[in-house]
Amino acid sequence: MKDIVLIPGDGIGPEITDSVTTILEEAGAEINWIRCSAGLKAYNEQDDPLPDETIEALDKYRIGLKGPLTTPVGSGFRSVNVALRQKFQLYSNIRPAKSLPYIKTSYKDVDMVIFRENTQGLYIGKEHWVGPEQGHAESIAVVTREASEKIIRAAFKYAQDKGRKKVTLVHKANILKLTTGLFLEVGQDIASEFPDIEFEDLIVDNMAMQMVMRPYRFDVIVTTNLFGDILSDLASGLVGGLGVTGAANIGDDAAIFEAVHGSAPDIAGEGKANPIAFLFAALMMLDHIGEAEIAERIRQAVYETLKYEKVCTPDIGGLGTTDTFTRSVCNNLE
Ligand code: NAD
Repeated sequence: MKDIVLIPGDGIGPEITDSVTTILEEAGAEINWIRCSAGLKAYNEQDDPLPDETIEALDKYRIGLKGPLTTPVGSGFRSVNVALRQKFQLYSNIRPAKSLPYIKTSYKDVDMVIFRENTQGLYIGKEHWVGPEQGHAESIAVVTREASEKIIRAAFKYAQDKGRKKVTLVHKANILKLTTGLFLEVGQDIASEFPDIEFEDLIVDNMAMQMVMRPYRFDVIVTTNLFGDILSDLASGLVGGLGVTGAANIGDDAAIFEAVHGSAPDIAGEGKANPIAFLFAALMMLDHIGEAEIAERIRQAVYETLKYEKVCTPDIGGLGTTDTFTRSVCNNLE
């Protein structure tokens, strides 16, 4: 039995958590879930969006599966996701986007993996007002050589280990010359250590257009925090939307797996939530803990299930619910 911290999260979080834990159990994954709380629910119930017990459990077990957490817009508590990534130095946010069978999209055979720097950039949350009127706000972005080296080296090593051919580094060094300029300079240095992997760099605005028009030309992508956040949602849109892309937050000695999407309050409680994104995050977790064979069986059951639109959720053109999809995946496990 492997101990893993489970945070169901807010909005659709509990629904997709039930789905994923059911499928993993049915597939024979031997996991002892340590259930913890965080986000808006924890804030409402315990007056703390990130209770000490949750931090202590993650500190002890070092691996977590985390549902989406609601972060108030504009004011209120700061993002718990960002806090967790910083606290456990989960510097690699790995977000694969791969075409799936039977889901109608503009392109077939998209297969890219985004490595997003997860602890710095504009997401450190250092913002302040200038002057007394609250008519002028400033935000500070941090990019260090050390953190840039870690994420860029992680992207190249992944490319090397997985037999991938190319790394694209995305920046805005024409305007943000010091911060993303440093990120680019570090990337150029590290690229020279990996002569067998093609390296290119693109400015982020051009990158957004290229991803929409020619997504096949991308393989592994590495970028700073904000650009990675936005481009990974774009990548999700290329393969069926936010309901189908999972993610891993990985550091040197801890890892938290989650869906790319948020808490989807617009559909919470309606049985419409697609559990695939969270399930794929859980499969990345199974790969990480050495249970790749179980992960692959579940992946094949998902591909088989996608054939039947009557059991799939509406976001991918289906007529079913979270429950019909979950039951069908369990039935299709070989
Ligand atoms: P969202 O990802 O929650 O939803 C965007 C759109 O995608 C919505 O229309 C939603 O219904 C749809 N969607 C998302 N996941 C889906 C699923 N599994 N199945 C079917 N449809 C799905 O983004 P948002 O509305 O901008 O954010 C809502 C909240 O989530 C905010 O508080 C935000 O801060 C938070 N958030 C959390 C995380 C995280 O926990 N990692 C990530 C992003 C946003």
